[in-house]
Amino acid sequence: MITGEQLAQWLSRLVQIPSVSPHQAGPRAGVTGEARIANAVAGWFAEYGGHVYRDEVMPGRPNIYAVWHGRSDRWIAVDVHMDTVGVEQMTGDPFSGRIADGRVYGRGAVDTKPTLAVVLALLEAMHTTRRLPASNLLVAATVDEEVGAQGAPAFARWVRANALAIDQLAVAEPTSCGPVYGHKGLSRLRFDIHGQAAHSSQPESGRNAITAAARLVLAMEEEAQRLLAQPPKTALGPARLTVSLIQGGTGINVVPDACHVSIDRRVVAGENPADVGAGLRALAERSCPLPLTATTLAEVDAFLQTPDAPWVCQLAEWAGRAPAVVPYCTNAWAYGGLAHECAVLGPGSIEQAHGAVEWVEIAELEKLAHMYTQWWGVEGF
Ligand SMILES: [Zn+2]
Repeated sequence: MITGEQLAQWLSRLVQIPSVSPHQAGPRAGVTGEARIANAVAGWFAEYGGHVYRDEVMPGRPNIYAVWHGRSDRWIAVDVHMDTVGVEQMTGDPFSGRIADGRVYGRGAVDTKPTLAVVLALLEAMHTTRRLPASNLLVAATVDEEVGAQGAPAFARWVRANALAIDQLAVAEPTSCGPVYGHKGLSRLRFDIHGQAAHSSQPESGRNAITAAARLVLAMEEEAQRLLAQPPKTALGPARLTVSLIQGGTGINVVPDACHVSIDRRVVAGENPADVGAGLRALAERSCPLPLTATTLAEVDAFLQTPDAPWVCQLAEWAGRAPAVVPYCTNAWAYGGLAHECAVLGPGSIEQAHGAVEWVEIAELEKLAHMYTQWWGVEGF
């Protein structure tokens, strides 16, 4: 029998291994990147009888895959990302892994090391009792979910290269153990507007990049309103657009020669993020009276499958929670067509992710462990 205490200990151990995304490094983050936790995880997977593969996605940032053969030829898979967001904004020791008040605390405690803790506790118990899962089991501990998006497509490439037909794929994120069957994708762009500096006493000698940018910003806002007014075609709701960053000017008495505007466009199922980006680029060029350079920052597909797929319904029944869609992105964006069914699933709430204090209820770990034992066909732990 796996106890809440054992699950909490596993999670505490994982939280104590810092794995902050290198994009969010800082004085409190320790050594950033996933190398340390990846080595530890690879060691545990091997110890518990897994066939372990290392996929160097970026230098020092490997995805770890492990396979356990089961009692049938079906395949099921879990993707759990190992990176966390930064810790500079946290109160208290981010890597304490403190267990108190029925919770485990620290960066990664909810996003998303708890699924890794449940997986390791189950694998340990299966190894000790020499039990096999009902299906072949593939576990992917992936890198670069929080800021970049390199880990998930690398895993998808590996699955395709090995011609594995995966029936069910769980993507770990905090969903309070309810199955999530859809979320929006992204198209993010930065526009660098090129003006010409001049003395502000003679503005006609220059070209004002800020006022040019203002036209672009207003055109984007109009586009945002147009999107909002369209009736949503899917459960994901309307596409959204936000002008999220602006920067420009060098002095109070200088006509600004440059202005930088970034936008975040949330794409829905049926939209191609690259096409959406191209449309926004054209809109920027039409609306801005000065030359500009457009840079694509991110292109991520939406994820949407039917909520009445059998496994999703089964997970919903075990969880006592209806299948849902969520506003945030997950690694599921990269898994279109990779598995027969895909669901985002994990303990704890997104409310506790990325904040000044991060924690998960141990009861949530127990709940996921119970669901996983049924899913993997190893009931009784
Ligand atoms: Zn996450």
